[in-house]
Amino acid sequence: MEALKNYHLSEGAKIISPSLPGEKSKILLDLQNNIEGSVVSYPKKMPIALKRAKGSIIEDVDGNQFIDFFGGCGVLNVGHSNEFVLDYVREQQEELVHALDFPTENKILLIQKILNNLPKEIRDDYKVSFGGPTGSDAVEAAIKLAKIKTGRDGIIAFSGGYHGMTSGALAVTSDTFFRKKITSLIPNVHFVPYSYCYRCPFNKNENNCDYDCVKHFEWILETGHSGITLPAAIILEPIQGEGGNIVPKNGFLERIVKIANKHGVLVIFDEIQSGFYRTGTFLEFMNSKAIPDIITFSKGFGGIGFPISGLIYRRDVEAWETAEHIGTFRANQVSIAAARGAFDFIEEHNIEEYTKNIGFYLMDKLNMLASDNPFIGEVRGRGLMIGIEFVKDRNTKVPFPEYLKSFRTECFKRGLLFEVGGHYNNVLRLVPPLITTKDIIDEAIAIMKVSIDVCSKEFTVKNLV
Ligand code: PMP
Repeated sequence: MEALKNYHLSEGAKIISPSLPGEKSKILLDLQNNIEGSVVSYPKKMPIALKRAKGSIIEDVDGNQFIDFFGGCGVLNVGHSNEFVLDYVREQQEELVHALDFPTENKILLIQKILNNLPKEIRDDYKVSFGGPTGSDAVEAAIKLAKIKTGRDGIIAFSGGYHGMTSGALAVTSDTFFRKKITSLIPNVHFVPYSYCYRCPFNKNENNCDYDCVKHFEWILETGHSGITLPAAIILEPIQGEGGNIVPKNGFLERIVKIANKHGVLVIFDEIQSGFYRTGTFLEFMNSKAIPDIITFSKGFGGIGFPISGLIYRRDVEAWETAEHIGTFRANQVSIAAARGAFDFIEEHNIEEYTKNIGFYLMDKLNMLASDNPFIGEVRGRGLMIGIEFVKDRNTKVPFPEYLKSFRTECFKRGLLFEVGGHYNNVLRLVPPLITTKDIIDEAIAIMKVSIDVCSKEFTVKNLV
């Protein structure tokens, strides 16, 4: 779409420093190392200091330009510093920034926008509640609401699920790396397998799959000897993000929801990463027939990176007493204005349709790339939430994180940024701005092609040794 071209800093990558990081980046990276806490992570994998960004292009302090297929970790759905959204931001910040939870026209308009974008049949049954500014805050609130509503305190989460870093959110996040030294998270959380068909925990494949993961979940709720008391809620991502952009098998969500409903267990869909048109629909669950009780949202809702988060929940789940869940930074007015701007931009440019089409386009290109690369085990995804799983061998599916690490470095050197995740850090995760143009995609693919050639040469030799 021609109009989207105007929303990017330039048409593609441009590396002008003799090597990366450039001289100015080096200075800032060193200072950061010295004076900022050691938990800093992304610049250790992509060593640059940032200067400015527009759309899908980021510029570092040395003037190098990168294609950003990382999108601020799935946040920048309408692109960096989108001018259309900035107009809403500028106007709002002159008027009112902080309003606690008082009503403003700005906020009411956003709530109406959110509800109006839900499926027709259910939109009148739901409400919106804003919490602290991050995704983790929304997850904490969802867990709390489910516990208050049901009077039960257990939660069932799914392996590969990522829900945040605060105590409750971390407790339902499966990656033990984040929790190995923290033993006192919220109690009574249990994990069950997600529908990860490429690595089915029940050793099944496409031909003999009988939804064993669903049956296992059902068995847990139905047998008195699973050791797990009836939980307040289950929490899951309709497409897992950090877990490796894993799209569950068709029918998985519906089956899980049906079983939970049967037992009066609330269903929380974490749409923090998969939501806000990332997969071509407002929320990912709308691609299925599964209806959750509570939905968490954040990330892309802030338009161009303004922090905002909250819940969408069915009215009959309402169980809060006034002020039972409070917070200082609930629904910052500028973030709300940015969210409204992003909604309007998406409508005006039909980004819903565009995301579906450009997603197919990118997926096709990636499949072509994969067809002659023995180290790519699977390309999967929906819309612009795409994962590429790297393996040592397509038959054994032994994860190949070393290859991906080198591949990321090679792409970085040529001006392409992306995220890495998955159960074994072997999944390249693409969550670019939804406004990314075909030209930018073509260039990213060209960078990947050259980088794959370099890495494949290196690893074919190593693999043989
Ligand atoms: N849920 C999901 C699905 C996420 O992807 C994330 C962040 N990656 C979170 C929750 C936590 O959000 P935040 O980092 O803003 O706390």
